[in-house]
Amino acid sequence: MTAPMKKRDAVQRAVVVGIGAAAAAAGFAARGRHIAAAGIVAGASALGAAAFVPSAPLFGPTVRKGATTRAAAALTFDDGPGPSTSALLDVLADEGVTATFFVLGRQAREYPDVIARMHREGHQIASHGYDHGILIFRGVRHVTAQLRATERAVREAVGPDVLTPLFRAPHGFRGPATWAAAHRCGYHMAAWTTGVFDTAEPGIPAIVERAARALSPGAVILLHDADGWDPARARPQTVGAIPGICAAARERGLALVRMDELVAA
Ligand SMILES: [Zn+2]
Repeated sequence: MTAPMKKRDAVQRAVVVGIGAAAAAAGFAARGRHIAAAGIVAGASALGAAAFVPSAPLFGPTVRKGATTRAAAALTFDDGPGPSTSALLDVLADEGVTATFFVLGRQAREYPDVIARMHREGHQIASHGYDHGILIFRGVRHVTAQLRATERAVREAVGPDVLTPLFRAPHGFRGPATWAAAHRCGYHMAAWTTGVFDTAEPGIPAIVERAARALSPGAVILLHDADGWDPARARPQTVGAIPGICAAARERGLALVRMDELVAA
């Protein structure tokens, strides 16, 4: 597999594409074709937004929220398993809560026992790709390889038919090939309703407060049990915030469930 594209590379490339579109538009404008120029800018902007906005439908449908008629919400964790995942599973077990883990294949290879424990304890295991490389400019073959390698890693850790066909692209960034490959491999693309930005490590009270504010019927909360770019990094703040988040859900009468119990894909 080729080296992963990082977020900064993807954004730089998107900026270059945007500048190209702007230059083309300027060319049209110089020849008096203002409507065409405006169309190019609008089109480029829409494509850019769709690629970087996780729930934008332009590059294929995504599942991101559940029905608002049921008093339930989902906690989802990306980038693991990592050094904090076992502690997180302890806390979730204490709280009696099951969640959804969008795991990296690379991390499943590192922590097969943790993957097995997730499955044993009733959590949903879904795909976040193999190595967290940004997929927005990658072709179908590359995205397919990421999905298949992750399936193999989970299968070798815990057995067949455990990985659920839900795929959240790294950072939610995706292009047409991302969706096409996911669709061809039988996945639904997943997004979320609220990112808590726990990766910025704002402190446990801030993580609890942000998540609590976002908890409502059908909400899918994005948290991280590891770090996609730095596999050695622990997430003690996220683990420490779970009791407060669960208490906030209980106060509102909201059950915390797996994403596949919340969202009909
Ligand atoms: Zn991620």
